[in-house]
Amino acid sequence: MIRSWSRAVFLCLLLATPEALSAQEKKTIDLARTMPLADVHMHLNGGHDADHYRGLMDRANVRWGGGVGGGRDDHPLEVKSILGARYIAALGQTEFFGVLLTSGERALYDPEQPLFQRLFAYAPAAIKNGLARGFGEIHINNISPFSPARGQRRIDLESPVVQKMFDLANRHGGFVQIHTMSNSGLDEILQASARYPDVKIVLSHCLPGASTRQLDTLFRARANLYCELSAQGPMHRIERVYGKFGLREEWRDLIERHPSRFMVGSDACCGLENRYEEIIQEIRTYLLPALSEKTMRRVASENARQVFRLQ
Ligand SMILES: [Zn+2]
Repeated sequence: MIRSWSRAVFLCLLLATPEALSAQEKKTIDLARTMPLADVHMHLNGGHDADHYRGLMDRANVRWGGGVGGGRDDHPLEVKSILGARYIAALGQTEFFGVLLTSGERALYDPEQPLFQRLFAYAPAAIKNGLARGFGEIHINNISPFSPARGQRRIDLESPVVQKMFDLANRHGGFVQIHTMSNSGLDEILQASARYPDVKIVLSHCLPGASTRQLDTLFRARANLYCELSAQGPMHRIERVYGKFGLREEWRDLIERHPSRFMVGSDACCGLENRYEEIIQEIRTYLLPALSEKTMRRVASENARQVFRLQ
């Protein structure tokens, strides 16, 4: 009885919603659904040609994509040479993963590893001439207490190989996108962002485990820290930031307080490779429309255009 009564109320609300929306709300929902996005956590999954990524982006109305690397067979600079200004080439992920899998976690500290030597042979010129502006996704700490899996590691953020990346990016006003977790503490992020003030440090998945208060502290302390919000919704079974209920209140407050620091990303990895369009649709449905129009425009693409210097 109670259940059917509350169901009736819910249905009434649902039916009443379209008229109850203000003109501004309707406009925001419409914009969120249709505006071009910059996807700053778009992996190369391996074995595809650049047309595959162009197709994904076109179908989802994503104008710019990249910010991370990935797949063994797709080289970021090759994809860049075909997608041009639409692709945000990021170096180093393939090499970082390769060294971990072949030589173990300690080898991530060793710049003499052949894969790292190869990386630092081509990276300086690529960054100097603007073909790539930085590195990512560099996994510093991705140890999940819930799902031990291949490829997990926890190293120091300021370790010799990662410092080389920071150095190069710092010299050219580039970026380093890192995947680390709040249980490594905030100190190493604060230290690196102070030591390399010209590097834009993008925190993948907005620093898993961090509270909105901790993120507020980071943004207040440093002007060169950014968050990208991939893998935070229902498709990734996380719902830390948003879900079918919309954007969590404390996250909306945080984003509105620091509107220049947030960007969106897909992270269609690890079994979600074929669900790119749905992931983008989630962002357009649950995340973006909850923001003010001005903030939404920034999060959707304007911030990425500044951080990655996109045209
Ligand atoms: Zn990723």
